Amino acid sequence: MSMREIKLCLLGDSGVGKSSLVQRFVSDTFNTHSQPTIGASFMSKTLVVDDQSYKFQIWDTAGQEKYRGLAPMYYRGAAAAIIVYDITRESSFSAVKMWVRELEQYGPGDVVLAIAGNKADLVDQREVTYDEAHKYADQINATFVETSAKTAVNVTQLFTAITRKLPAEII
Ligand code: GDP
Ligand code: MG
Repeated sequence: MSMREIKLCLLGDSGVGKSSLVQRFVSDTFNTHSQPTIGASFMSKTLVVDDQSYKFQIWDTAGQEKYRGLAPMYYRGAAAAIIVYDITRESSFSAVKMWVRELEQYGPGDVVLAIAGNKADLVDQREVTYDEAHKYADQINATFVETSAKTAVNVTQLFTAITRKLPAEII
C-alpha cells in the first residue's frame, strides 16, 4: 500500500480543544487538564482510508494572541487545515471567520479546509447552532463536523473526511 504524507495544521482560539482533538486522534486519550500549547507542537499519525494509507503530519498551534504571528509558518505548505471552535463559546466561532479570511489571503490556495465545532458533549451550554455553522462551512466549501475530544465523537470521521477531499495525487 502506498503512503501519502499530508501536512495538516490546526487553528482556532485558545481553549477550544485543538490539542485535545489531536491527542484523541493520535493516542485515543483525553486529558481534563490539557496544558496550553506553547508556540506549536508536532505529531504524526497514520490513517488508512479506502485502501490508501495517509500519514498526517499535524501541526497544533497555540491560539493565544502572542503566538498568532507564528501561524503562517505552520499553514504555509499545508495540504489541509482544521479550524476549531467551541460550540459553547460564540466568540470562538467569530474567530473561525477571522482564520478563514487569513488563510484566503496568505494561505496555500488549494488547502483542504475543515471546520470542527468541538465540545459537542456540552450541548446544554451550546451558543453556536449546528445549522449556522454548517451553513457557513457550505458557503466556503469547507467540511464541517461537530466533534468531542472528550467522548471521541466524530474525531476519526473529521480526518477521514479530509482525506476524501484531497486532490488526486499527481503521479
Ligand atoms: P487548545 O488551547 O485549543 O489546544 O485547547 P485544549 O485542548 O488545551 O483544551 C482546553 C480545555 O478544554 C481543556 O480543559 C480540555 O480538557 C477541554 N476540552 C477539550 N476538548 C473538549 C471536549 O470535546 N469536551 C469537553 N467537555 N472539554 C474539552
Ligand atoms: Mg493547545
